[in-house]
Amino acid sequence: MTVRTRFAPSPTGYLHVGGGRTALFNWLFARKHKGTFILRVEDTDAARNTEEARQAIFDGMNWLGLDWDEGPEKGGPHGPYYQSRRNEIYDAYFEKLLAADRLYKDGDAYRFRFDRKPITMHDLVCGEVTIDYRDESNTPDMVVKRSDGSYVFHFVNVVDDLEMEMTHVIRGEDHLMNTPKHLQLIEALGAQPPQYAHIPLILNPDGSKMSKRDVGAAVGDYPRQGFLSGAVVNFIALLGWSSKSDDEIFTLTELIDRFSLEAINRAPARFDYEKCKWVNQQHIAKISTEAFADLAKPFVEAENLPITENYAAVIAAVKEKVRLLTEVPAAIDFLVTDTATQDEEAVAKAKANPNAALLPALADQLANGTEWSAEKAKEAIGEVAAAHGAKAGQLMFPVRVALSGRAHGPDLGDIFAILGKEKCVARLRSFH
Ligand code: GLU
Repeated sequence: MTVRTRFAPSPTGYLHVGGGRTALFNWLFARKHKGTFILRVEDTDAARNTEEARQAIFDGMNWLGLDWDEGPEKGGPHGPYYQSRRNEIYDAYFEKLLAADRLYKDGDAYRFRFDRKPITMHDLVCGEVTIDYRDESNTPDMVVKRSDGSYVFHFVNVVDDLEMEMTHVIRGEDHLMNTPKHLQLIEALGAQPPQYAHIPLILNPDGSKMSKRDVGAAVGDYPRQGFLSGAVVNFIALLGWSSKSDDEIFTLTELIDRFSLEAINRAPARFDYEKCKWVNQQHIAKISTEAFADLAKPFVEAENLPITENYAAVIAAVKEKVRLLTEVPAAIDFLVTDTATQDEEAVAKAKANPNAALLPALADQLANGTEWSAEKAKEAIGEVAAAHGAKAGQLMFPVRVALSGRAHGPDLGDIFAILGKEKCVARLRSFH
């Protein structure tokens, strides 16, 4: 049996990380089992659906790299993939339920007669869940067709999962308690249910439920916040799933390889934006300098910094120093312009340092040296320090601040090499 999974978003807002995770887990499971991943747009609520929301979902999935095999823009044998265009199909299923004597009128609406028995589901993550339908007061027959003629979510969701031949339904735990209702409908239709896996809620670090307004909630915000899509996919995968090893940093391909429904946790996942930045840093460290340079370029240009001839070297010098692409401009500005903002506190501290008095001597030594290299420049620090009874280490801080205007940054050797002899000499001389 070929695995068939789906992501079934309702286009009522942007793509939330929770939705992104549902899409990712379904996609990973399908890819792992060489199955089919379907995108189905659950847009029956005309009043709340918007074109922007639909587009944001498609954009978010594309950015994350979650391509679908059947669905909007792709087509497939079970279309249309918009629920708003499937009414004839729903009508046919409605007729089946009528013929099976499972519907009755309630005013202008139609209710589905539950089978009055306990229904037990075997969820692949949550285990056994039973709802006892013998207690009618707790489980009143449900409306499937409203008085305005529209079908409810439970009905169209089930019809589509059957029609689209889903083998696995992986979705948020908020739908766990809906599933027995779905099983009732499926049984009444004489069909076989898919397997279900309900994935844990996502909570904020403080334990509150993650809301739409929380930082990091919208997948669409991540690109301009300076995240790599591979890092965000990696981070989202860790929301409720773990590799059962110490490894946490994975490419999409590695995730496909390692993913399993068995490894999904029952406990709620913790959303930690700081951790997402850490994951991003790990991905930046792993990609090639060329790839990093390309990704960083728009951020550098957005800050009106020049893409210099030695851009590749500039970028390489900060690759291990930044967590986000948005941090690149401030990390490289002093390397590509002479007008970068200085860290006043660091400058004041360096100027108060007694060893700052040695900077002119260092400048002279660099200026007079016949051979210029970053290595030679670093050696010169040691020589000048020694000549004045100081240690090289004591001179490093004022040198760094004089050259960069800040206390932290790239390796001093990289700074020497990128700035070159003239700029280094000039910055050391003018620092007083
Ligand atoms: N449209 C539903 C939602 O967004 C889909 C639920 C499901 O995956 O079955 O929650």
